[in-house]
Amino acid sequence: MASNPSITFPLREAEMPTHWYNLLADFPEPLPPPLHPGTREPVTPDLMMGLFPESLVAQEMSAERTIEIPAEVREVYALYRPTPLLRAVRLERALQTPAHIYYKYEGVSPAGSHKPNTAIPQAYYNKQTGTKRLATETGAGQWGSSLAFACSVFGLECNIYMVKVSYHQKPYRRLLMQTYGATVHASPSNQTEFGRRQLAENPDSNGSLGLAISEAIEDTMKHPGTKYALGSVLNHVCLHQSIIGEETIKQMALAGEEPDVIFGCAGGGSNFAGLAFPFVRQKIKHGSKCRIVAVEPSSCPSLTQGELRYDFGDMAETTPLMMMHTLGHTFMPPSIHAGGLRYHGMAPMVSHCLKLGLIEAMAYPQMKVFQAALQFARAEGIVPAPESSHAIAAAIDEAVKCREEGRKRVIVIGLSGNGLLDLAAYDSFLSGHMHDTGKDD
Ligand SMILES: *Cc1c(COP(=O)(O)O)cnc(C)c1O
Repeated sequence: MASNPSITFPLREAEMPTHWYNLLADFPEPLPPPLHPGTREPVTPDLMMGLFPESLVAQEMSAERTIEIPAEVREVYALYRPTPLLRAVRLERALQTPAHIYYKYEGVSPAGSHKPNTAIPQAYYNKQTGTKRLATETGAGQWGSSLAFACSVFGLECNIYMVKVSYHQKPYRRLLMQTYGATVHASPSNQTEFGRRQLAENPDSNGSLGLAISEAIEDTMKHPGTKYALGSVLNHVCLHQSIIGEETIKQMALAGEEPDVIFGCAGGGSNFAGLAFPFVRQKIKHGSKCRIVAVEPSSCPSLTQGELRYDFGDMAETTPLMMMHTLGHTFMPPSIHAGGLRYHGMAPMVSHCLKLGLIEAMAYPQMKVFQAALQFARAEGIVPAPESSHAIAAAIDEAVKCREEGRKRVIVIGLSGNGLLDLAAYDSFLSGHMHDTGKDD
């Protein structure tokens, strides 16, 4: 070997992004607005202010291209940001590919994923406007633990509805939430009318994210001083996550390369949006040819199989109607191990990007994803979250294609989290009990 390539590209504090990026300002065609479920008219800010503080509602609808990150938020970000951009030279060697593979690693946050990037500002803006308590839902617990952490930082109470099957099967993230001081209920719960009705109809219900959202919204409406927080899908969440892509652009400049193709996993779409949107801006403004690919599970394929239409975000039909790729708000996804990717819809902004041809989408089955996860862990040392491993699987296929075609491409992977609290999923794969259907032996 002539020389060892650099593998880390550290940003100095002075180089840290000071603003989030809002793609809403640059869409060549406007995003269809959310609609009131009763009147089917575009929702007005006051309707949303029952659930969210005014500052977040303003961000949800903002046409400003950049929004300054408050100093108090940047101070908390500094606990784990900038997150590392690494070049996966060992994976490149293992694959014998001429491709250069980079990964942006969000697993260094306290909760182990990208989700604190939005939990922190959401807790901050709520605290600022006098909110005492936040209610939310969580699937496998990544969002719940991120919000619980953020609430502990800003001194808010945190009340979490956790999908029942995960509450029982995945105790560690529940314990993490409780460690940060949150209260956690298995959903469907007896805390809400909607939950009690579900329990009466089906006492053995495993719950779903759509159901837990309905409970958290009902809780918010019925408790004064309480607001609601959502960990994905909404415009302001995509906005906060843009810190990922803004850092990546600066770090790739330090690496002296530009991505030819970017892969991110997509559940509700927020980590993908966060990495992708600053690069989408470069496509719109400078005609960059970079391919940007969202990778989702074959068993919950909203982008590749779902319809683009207005649909509810929750099962009880309480949220505004959003124009998004959806499998239908009553869809019950199979119990695949990438719990964070089991959502029936996709962020309206990500759906709009696909419609405008600014991004592409692919779907991968669970077994291929875990094969890729193992290959990555054994080459790079980091155990990736099952969700993130969807992006890894697609990147490995791309790198193999580069080898076969004998051409170099620069690949960037969004590594949204680590899988250290998901080792039971690895157990299921390693012991041969896992299937693509989502039903383990
Ligand atoms: C929640 C989660 C996801 C999926 O959510 P998005 O909003 O699509 O980003 C992906 N990766 C990890 C590690 C997660 O915790």
